[in-house]
Amino acid sequence: MDAGIVEALRRIVGEGNVLFGAEDAEAMEPYTHDEVVGLRADPEVVVRVTSAEQVAEIFRLAQRERVPVTPRGAGYGLSGGAVPIHGGIVLSTEKMNRILEIDKENLMVTVEPGVITGDIHRAVEAEGLFYPPDPASLDSCSIGGNIAEGAGGPRAVKYGVTRHYVCGLDAVLPSGEIITCGGKLVKNVTGYDLIQLLIGSEGTLAVVTKIILRLLPLPKVQVDLLVPYDNFQAAADTVSDIIAHRILPTAIEFMERDSLLAVERLLKKELPYRDAAACLLIQLDGNSPEAVDGDYEVVGDLCLEHGAQDVLVAKDSRTRDRLWEARRLIIEALNHESPVNHMEDVVVPRAELPPLLKGIKEIARRHAVRTVCFGHAGDGNVHVNVLKDDIPDERWESLVPAVAEEIYRLTLSLGGMITGEHGVGVTRRRYLPLALDEAQIEVMRRIRAVFDPNHILNPGKIFP
Ligand SMILES: Cc1cc2nc3c(=O)[nH]c(=O)nc-3n(C[C@H](O)[C@H](O)[C@H](O)COP(=O)(O)OP(=O)(O)OC[C@H]3O[C@@H](n4cnc5c(N)ncnc54)[C@H](O)[C@@H]3O)c2cc1C
Repeated sequence: MDAGIVEALRRIVGEGNVLFGAEDAEAMEPYTHDEVVGLRADPEVVVRVTSAEQVAEIFRLAQRERVPVTPRGAGYGLSGGAVPIHGGIVLSTEKMNRILEIDKENLMVTVEPGVITGDIHRAVEAEGLFYPPDPASLDSCSIGGNIAEGAGGPRAVKYGVTRHYVCGLDAVLPSGEIITCGGKLVKNVTGYDLIQLLIGSEGTLAVVTKIILRLLPLPKVQVDLLVPYDNFQAAADTVSDIIAHRILPTAIEFMERDSLLAVERLLKKELPYRDAAACLLIQLDGNSPEAVDGDYEVVGDLCLEHGAQDVLVAKDSRTRDRLWEARRLIIEALNHESPVNHMEDVVVPRAELPPLLKGIKEIARRHAVRTVCFGHAGDGNVHVNVLKDDIPDERWESLVPAVAEEIYRLTLSLGGMITGEHGVGVTRRRYLPLALDEAQIEVMRRIRAVFDPNHILNPGKIFP
């Protein structure tokens, strides 16, 4: 990269906020990847911004010099969105990490994009308020990354996903213009909904610099149930039956045995029900103990009717935290188990979960490969880890695309989509035409060109 560009960047963000060249090679390493196994690319320069105005100046410079800009939150993405596959500038929001205001009258919180999502939870909960979206990575990922990916999480069953809570956004367009969309507004239909367009746009349309999120009162009562099954399919059948009974738990998570055994090995301690073929982790919440107790009794009975071995009820926060710790560690544990692996994030209508899980196991058997399924069963959103174990490299290279494509075709045949919350990014872009027709892809390409005609913002993402 031209030394003049680096000098200009130093003038914009300050010397200490630019990483460049051999002496910064070690400090730049974390910016070469996100959490996708095996995907890396070197940025030419990393800049850590502290304001929207700095982002705007960087865009104006990047336009003049035609340098690619890749936005980055915390780098915990699972589709390669923050990986600078065309080099250029990595624009990190990690220093824009202030919670600007908790507005108790309007039930809104205003934050910068680099705030870690779990910090928002803790700050608003201290005021008796509740921000429901809770990606399993919540203590590592940023709210800006959640917005760019349209992140979900276990509580989506009852409370929806990130996009259902965003009322206002400031964003910097690739032209360098700063726009303010929405505000502390529960309703707003003034023109096209650019907020919803930017959510899930994977850092390809604009850089988000300020966010206003809607809050709810914190529910007073929470109960978690851990339910083991000796039959993988019976656990899946229970999920659709609970929903059919018109009970909406906060979360229904599915964990296959191998995922829990991997967590045991990572934590070096035994988890309950280690012989179960699969477990459900079900959370219920509400404002009165009577209502929550009533629901969990019905849910517990349904689980037992479907052959559950037991129903462990966790009412105190220590036991609940232990159960959720195991769930949140699954991805890390599987990475320890098989450092080379491939992860899918398919989503189907909730009632189609049983045929999806059955079909995935058939595909795995046919290809003689180990798959571990877990995830947000209550949303029909399943994460499938395909583990390399000791499969030779050559076979692995051809096996992954074959297995992925079969899983996608199965998912689409059940009315589903190829990603529920992790995004298309780099890893799924070649499969976009399987999921969307050409006319839709063309409209999306044209929208992108309106925002970014010179294609400097996060090139190489989403589109094949
Ligand atoms: C262990 C683990 C568990 C996970 N669990 C979940 C889960 O339950 N639910 C879920 O939805 N996801 C989950 N994820 C995926 C991931 O954490 C989310 O996608 C998260 O939103 C990424 O945030 P980040 O700050 O790390 O983003 P990054 O990886 O830094 O970036 C992700 C994308 O956002 C763009 N971006 C970042 N900041 C901005 C900004 N300010 N403006 C514009 N674009 C921006 C980047 O360019 C990139 O395309 C999990 C990941 C891991 C590793």
